Amino acid sequence: EERVVTGEFQEEDSSVELNLRPTTLSQYIGQQKVKENLSIFIQAAKMREEPLDHVLLYGPPGLGKTTLAAIIANEMGVQFRSTSGPAIERAGDLAAILSSLEPGDVLFIDEIHRLPRSVEEVLYPAMEDFFLDIVIGTGPSARSVRIDLPPFTLVGATTRAGLLSAPLRDRFGVLSRLEFYEAKDLCAIIERTAEIFNTSISQAAAVEVARRSRGTPRIANRLLKRIRDISQVKGEEEISIDTTGEALEMLQVDKEGLDHIDHKLLKGIIHSFQGGPVGLDTIAATIGEESQTIEDVYEPYLLQIGFIQRTPRGRVATPKAYEHFGLKVADENEH
Ligand code: ADP
Repeated sequence: EERVVTGEFQEEDSSVELNLRPTTLSQYIGQQKVKENLSIFIQAAKMREEPLDHVLLYGPPGLGKTTLAAIIANEMGVQFRSTSGPAIERAGDLAAILSSLEPGDVLFIDEIHRLPRSVEEVLYPAMEDFFLDIVIGTGPSARSVRIDLPPFTLVGATTRAGLLSAPLRDRFGVLSRLEFYEAKDLCAIIERTAEIFNTSISQAAAVEVARRSRGTPRIANRLLKRIRDISQVKGEEEISIDTTGEALEMLQVDKEGLDHIDHKLLKGIIHSFQGGPVGLDTIAATIGEESQTIEDVYEPYLLQIGFIQRTPRGRVATPKAYEHFGLKVADENEH
């Protein structure tokens, strides 16, 4: 199902995202702490003329992990190679990619938590000492060969660091967690995108889009693209706050950036489970979504804005969530 407010990549994003990606750390808006850290590591590695330490980037989808990985390569002055965990099915696939790298190159593995375990084990010595131990052939003729690799930097991305096995996580020298963007940073991203789109947007409209973008640049850009189309059809010189409000209403994105799926999730907890606590799997079954998707994609922002809380006994809808729907908080004494 297509969702306009999901941080996950959607088909419609492909036409715009290529032009929107910042290419240097200084163009990359927000994430101040992550940038400062990386900037120091990059400078130090360059001074030593060594490849950068392996970097793990984690955080919800659409916050700029892929973008940052490409920036790292650009700042190091090396090639950027990109693949994903599920795309590397066998150790041989990984060997082919790694042995084609030039010294110092950045290899980006998106969804690195989805690497098959057999591939992961081959990756350990590659990360640590830049060699591969590959078994060639089967049965009695099977033999192990050692392949030396050029030194490289692995940049891994995952939605949650906890999804990685401990041995893999331990092999990253730099662990950086991307946070949801503050409103002012999202505003700056929206204004930058408008400029690349060759349109202008009023300050008030930019603030409104930022407020409803769930702290996520990908969503902000997607919403802006939709709103721009409507604004253009109306013949506006500048995207106005009125058109922005109308467009977001049409897209069924509410004041907090929530859509029907969030509503279903929150109302499910409130109405079917008296506000909780209720286990994630139970919620998932009730609303017909996968637990993993809820945990990685829908829930992080609802936690961030304090609409739900995680407790040892499950998820709880907070008074803020009740208020959002104009409901009265269930009386504690009733259950
Ligand atoms: P992720 O890999 O975390 O899912 P991406 O790196 O693909 O996210 O980012 C999604 C889109 O958001 C990109 O196309 C990029 O244009 C935009 N974007 C992300 N982070 C920033 C940022 N800090 N500044 C400007 N644009 C950004």
